[in-house]
Amino acid sequence: MKKNIKDYNLDELKQLMVELGEKPYRAEQIFKWIFIENVTSFDEMTNISIDLRNKLKENFDLHIFNIIQKQVSKDGTKKYLFDVLDGNAIESVLMEYKHGFTICVSSQIGCKMGCKFCASTGVKFARNLSSGEIVEQLLAVQRDENIKISNLVFMGIGEPLDNYDNVMKAIKILNNQKGINMGARHISISTSGLVPKIYKLADEDLQCTLSISLHSSNNKKRSEMMPVNDVYNIEELIKACKYYIEKTNKRISFEYALAKEDNDNLKDAKELVKLLNGMLCHVNLIPINRIENGKYSKSTNENIMKFRDYLNEKGIVATIRRELGSDIDAACGQLRKKEVKKCEPTQKPI
Ligand code: SAH
Repeated sequence: MKKNIKDYNLDELKQLMVELGEKPYRAEQIFKWIFIENVTSFDEMTNISIDLRNKLKENFDLHIFNIIQKQVSKDGTKKYLFDVLDGNAIESVLMEYKHGFTICVSSQIGCKMGCKFCASTGVKFARNLSSGEIVEQLLAVQRDENIKISNLVFMGIGEPLDNYDNVMKAIKILNNQKGINMGARHISISTSGLVPKIYKLADEDLQCTLSISLHSSNNKKRSEMMPVNDVYNIEELIKACKYYIEKTNKRISFEYALAKEDNDNLKDAKELVKLLNGMLCHVNLIPINRIENGKYSKSTNENIMKFRDYLNEKGIVATIRRELGSDIDAACGQLRKKEVKKCEPTQKPI
């Protein structure tokens, strides 16, 4: 299989040009064709020689995803099922807000974390996505909808910090001013709590938003929901979060999916206030989305509002997340990887 040219950052492309006996400035031209013009073939790169285009074609491809399925929700949210060209399929979600478009991308094919309430758990982990495959999710949606996406969240399938290097590389490519030019402030990473990687992330000089999938402030309950808690418990997780805040001076967003009669009563809210007291943070309350065979069901609206009000009263900023795309299984925790069985591509791979 040919190499994915989207896996190359600008410096690597420059190096490649040297290897191919070309002038390094060609790298910038190619980088723009790929990430700004969003071309689907090397022949569209009209300001580079046919000779260089042919050299590129021989060794590389542009890894254009096929759209297997596109679903549109009543609220306008769109869910894409992409054929990633190796027999696997992943999902990405496009949401429109007042401030622009946000894409929710997958970072892995399947997930190893095993959270009991999440649909991505129900399928076997296949592999990490490469940086080029992460960025291609944004490019493919931009091509399909003819839009410019301004924000990106790593909240699709997979645990982004379990694919640390490729996720970091994708972020740097997204940031590059000579390409997509998406500022790190417009990017959020959500993690189930891989503590050593939170420290590592804190030490990068990045301005990304960090979201922590907390879901409970009680170790017993959290371990039942999220096996990762048996490896890194709440105390270790909060310690890492405090380090992250100290290093970056950035507010952390804690995700808390409310499950009926499980983690949604006043006692849970009290424990949460105690845990987060004094931290530079925000709590995002998510009415839990029920998944097939899942034991957790959605909390009542009354409980959700009581929970929010209690946190706000105690000085912890909490908001209830709008549920986008739940009618097409595109809401939090409803994405899963699929096998490509019968694929009728809407776009031919190159
Ligand atoms: N692995 C990462 C990112 C993917 S999940 C993480 O765990 O953070 C994105 C968010 O959706 C996480 O906060 C996750 O806990 C939440 N989520 C998963 N399943 C859900 C469900 N059934 N209902 C509501 N939120 C869910």
